[in-house]
Amino acid sequence: MSPPDEYSWSLRELARYPFLDEAKGYISEEAPSLGELIKDSLWGPVRERGKDRVFEALDEGKVRIRDIRDDIEQEEELFSYPIARMLVSSIGDNFLVRRYSLGEAERVVTELSGEDDEMILKMASALEINAGMDGDLFTIFFGDYLENTERLRAPPWKLVNQDLRDGKVYMDREKFIRLLKERVFFIISEDLPAPVSDQILNNFERSIEQIEEKLRERKTEIKEIDLGKVENDLFPPCIKKLVAGQKEGENLSHEARFALTAFLRKVGLSEDDIIAIFKEAPDFDEDMASYQIEHIIGEISGTEYNPPGCDLMKTNGICYNPDSLCEQEWMNHPLSYYSFKKKKGDESGKEGDVKEENG
Ligand code: SF4
Repeated sequence: MSPPDEYSWSLRELARYPFLDEAKGYISEEAPSLGELIKDSLWGPVRERGKDRVFEALDEGKVRIRDIRDDIEQEEELFSYPIARMLVSSIGDNFLVRRYSLGEAERVVTELSGEDDEMILKMASALEINAGMDGDLFTIFFGDYLENTERLRAPPWKLVNQDLRDGKVYMDREKFIRLLKERVFFIISEDLPAPVSDQILNNFERSIEQIEEKLRERKTEIKEIDLGKVENDLFPPCIKKLVAGQKEGENLSHEARFALTAFLRKVGLSEDDIIAIFKEAPDFDEDMASYQIEHIIGEISGTEYNPPGCDLMKTNGICYNPDSLCEQEWMNHPLSYYSFKKKKGDESGKEGDVKEENG
């Protein structure tokens, strides 16, 4: 079935871009009732695909593109999107929400990369981004640029580094699609997790268990990242909190990323080890992470930066959970904390306890 005339997107396009308002309109007009969708055997393939979307995002970081040929497959693909959202909402885990939303946004990047420029502009307009073209370059109103690059903190995205003319930022196609991905990620994650009814929880009980199991596995893998000879048990509480936050997908501030990277480098982690930690974040962007890390460790700038001391950590609001060792008068740097603990550990064969040592 094709969308009615007032729709500006074909069913095939709505299936590929199910986060669009028109897709939501089509679903509310044409989809079966919630009871049928989540229970009726006729809609079993839709439920399977919905579950696959979440699994693929968790496992591979990207929802796979399915070959959708006829109207039936296109509707199945479209209706599977709300099913995936119901499953994610039923679990209500922040890491899962971000990982799933990013997996969908990655799929959209691949879809858009195969579209012509006209379609990309149509998408920008549907996403309420004020954009156009000038020759081969895309242009975007600078206010829209700022709004949609808030999370992109690497220097290549800073406004001062853009080709800015007459209030518009000029960029190539690849960069423009990357920017659209930010908007898509925001739209997909915005209302998740949504409230779910007992009817949904009961009917999806088995799928929810399977996803929760996969989520547990994924989180365990993350915890088991090998830090080599670096003894992360001896890290100060602030650094432990930042490592955990990074793995859980918290949007760490620039200061927090800087402190974490510089600290990990100083205690002996290689660039690859550090990237491995950053890689576990649901919104990991390898190019951006590499750029930031290489800058901090001196590969780009030629200057290796030192991690901030406790005073600056406190000023930046990232001195988390200070313990009894942090309260010592001489404690002024996270590296001092680590080397003290390491020394005590080496002397006694176990982790030192400052209270006993000094008491
Ligand atoms: S006092 Fe220093 S070492 Fe301790 S948590 Fe705060 S910043 Fe980290």
